[in-house]
Amino acid sequence: MKNSVFSVPSVAKSSVMNLELENPAELTKKAVGTGAERRRRRFLLKGVVQGVGFRPFVYGLAQKNNLQGWVNNSSAGVFIEVEGKMEAVEDFTREVSHQAPPRARIESLKFEDLTPVGFRSFEIRESVEEAGKYQLISPDIATCEPCQQEVFNPQDRRYRYPFTNCTNCGPRFTIIQDIPYDRPKTTMAQFRMCPECQHEYDDPTNRRFHAQPNACSHCGPKVELCDEQGKPLGVDDPVSSAIALLREGKILAIKGLGGFLLACNAQNPLVLERLRQRKRRPHKPFAVMLPHLPAVQKHCWVNEGEEKLLLAPESPIVLLHWKESSPISRFVAPGQKYLGVMLPYTPLHHLLLRESGLVLIMTSGNLNEEPIAKDNEEAFSRLQGIADAFLIHDRDIYVQYDDSVTAVVSGENTILRRARGYAPFPIRLPFPLKPILACGAELKNTFCLTRDQYAFLSQHIGDMENLETLNHFQRTIGIYQKLFSIQPEMVAYDLHPEYLSTKYALQLTGKKIGVQHHFAHMASCLAENGAEGPAIGLTFDGLGYGTDGNLWGGEFLLGNFRFFERKAHFEYIPMPGGAAAIQHPWRMALSYVYTLLGKEEFMKHQPLFALPQGEKVRIILQQIDQKFNAPLTSSCGRLFDGVSALLGLCPSVSYEGQAAMELERIANPEEDGAYDFFTEEEEGKEIIRLRPLIAGVLKDLGKGIEPSVIAAKFHNTLVNIGVAICQKIGERGGPKKVALSGGVFQNRLLTERMRAAMEKSGLEVLTHRLVPCNDGGLALGQAVIANFVAQ
Ligand SMILES: [Zn+2]
Ligand SMILES: [Zn+2]
Repeated sequence: MKNSVFSVPSVAKSSVMNLELENPAELTKKAVGTGAERRRRRFLLKGVVQGVGFRPFVYGLAQKNNLQGWVNNSSAGVFIEVEGKMEAVEDFTREVSHQAPPRARIESLKFEDLTPVGFRSFEIRESVEEAGKYQLISPDIATCEPCQQEVFNPQDRRYRYPFTNCTNCGPRFTIIQDIPYDRPKTTMAQFRMCPECQHEYDDPTNRRFHAQPNACSHCGPKVELCDEQGKPLGVDDPVSSAIALLREGKILAIKGLGGFLLACNAQNPLVLERLRQRKRRPHKPFAVMLPHLPAVQKHCWVNEGEEKLLLAPESPIVLLHWKESSPISRFVAPGQKYLGVMLPYTPLHHLLLRESGLVLIMTSGNLNEEPIAKDNEEAFSRLQGIADAFLIHDRDIYVQYDDSVTAVVSGENTILRRARGYAPFPIRLPFPLKPILACGAELKNTFCLTRDQYAFLSQHIGDMENLETLNHFQRTIGIYQKLFSIQPEMVAYDLHPEYLSTKYALQLTGKKIGVQHHFAHMASCLAENGAEGPAIGLTFDGLGYGTDGNLWGGEFLLGNFRFFERKAHFEYIPMPGGAAAIQHPWRMALSYVYTLLGKEEFMKHQPLFALPQGEKVRIILQQIDQKFNAPLTSSCGRLFDGVSALLGLCPSVSYEGQAAMELERIANPEEDGAYDFFTEEEEGKEIIRLRPLIAGVLKDLGKGIEPSVIAAKFHNTLVNIGVAICQKIGERGGPKKVALSGGVFQNRLLTERMRAAMEKSGLEVLTHRLVPCNDGGLALGQAVIANFVAQ
């Protein structure tokens, strides 16, 4: 009998999968035959097929078609054998991919026909382990609608049970210790199911058939309320008591899916101020959680795409246009145009939100920039002095998992922080990769491990500025290596010698490949778009170590996965004081004016912008003159900082991107004017001169033009620069394809205008959607480059 091997596309409308049906005619062709003939067929399905109700679905499908045989999970995928009438086997073959459960993602389906052996029934067999094999693992999934209904139904046995879940929802990645995915290999292993739960688990017609985290209030995890020391308060109803504390204006540490979140009332400015002080986070925006969509619409403008994203099973934070009329304190996200909003994604959150009627701040349970706390004892010590009380539970979290941050840009979903709901699902590439570990960058670190056609980009790890984050990074690499059975042959790292991720990479054994920061950005954008180049990598970024030892960040690269050439960049400007110039954008403002316009102009214009007077300025001018502690940068992020400070918006910042975000917020979208710029060729590179831009800003300020107009003209100037340089490269025989990458493109106004202007001028524009445009997507580019460079 002829064997048939082919792939079918996922039925789930996935944004990630883009598989072609290799031979769509094959299935229908095979159905032709006598129909009564008996047939036995063995399948191997790969993709996310474990932890998503796939085996119960197969069981039901076999029953429906009157087929006998078996199904099991293995570390290689799901194996199925069915035996019965030929027609029924063909029906089953079609339906197994086309009617798969909503959260399943079938990446490949292979089958072969074997001699019938006379199975008598259909059974779910024990899972088997196969050495070296691996399975894709489902991310955690937000509570589904039927489970929500049970939680709020006083007649249901799961009424108000905070850990209700089923095969379509609940924790997955955060509780899995090893594969294949079965309860004994999860942190649910310690909970023994009560007879009722066991019955659901064993009943193939039940929604909880083989739902590994299945539990109820009798047999499952429990919540407990503890005081600020972590001492149990012994209250009867921890959820109601927690709500009472939130109403009183207390800060609660709440154990969730992937770690502790700090919660407080978003409409109480006093508690907000306390939270900011305790977390040492003076301005960085917080996200809020609202009970349901109508509540979100009260505070934010929500379009159709944003509505879908809010309600998606990934349930990310979505950045939404914040209404002026919203009663949520502006102190939640000072100086922001957008408010980060999410809906409840566990039953515990649903209970807290609906029963309190509050708008809650939900922010990572950590001290600024440390990893999110995940264990109870760890939280008691690390969050001591931050939280007034702890709402804990006894289901362990195996791996930390922050909330993801997304936005809808030009009508497309974009991920700005990739974690809960998305990782560890891989980026599928159009080519196979060697086993590689890419260590990522310093800020917003993620790492990437590759195998076959998959790039497993980790969840957001954090800013690698302390030992806690480095430990978290190392431990999570270990978890990914084990789950996906990857032994890296090569290590890719950023060229910046001071990055902790670079230092980590360099002490590993094996082949090491250093990858320039913006080259990696470009490759990351190309890779997630399935494009190989050549392309122009337009990277507007904060800072990245350049091959000349300067700090790059306003770059036009030309290249593919193997090489790049620096075609154009913003002119170099000193950053007086190095890191101090990042913290104090007024230093950059001063540097732009002084360097580009000279001392006389500087003195003349000094009264125009608010800079600290006196000795500090003199020292800084000296640093610039003597080139002492004033590294050179071509960064676009620093240019945003400088212009922002000239407008008096952000003389100093407390988090990355703050000045740029405020500049975006005030920009008047009606304004279509721009400032001038020109380029000069130096050693085959176009140097973009910024003197007319800075002079233009000062002139407008002098005339008393509104900062909102100046901010818009600044954005428009960057768009004009982008289009002009890319066209020039194209005219000289370069590609017409442009990959936009780098943290500056988190700026929605800039991205939307740049894309529109480029497309209008005949350029093809690629942007990030699946991985962040900021340094959170860098590791993907590093891995792909290492793969090709090493060939
Ligand atoms: Zn459910
Ligand atoms: Zn139970």
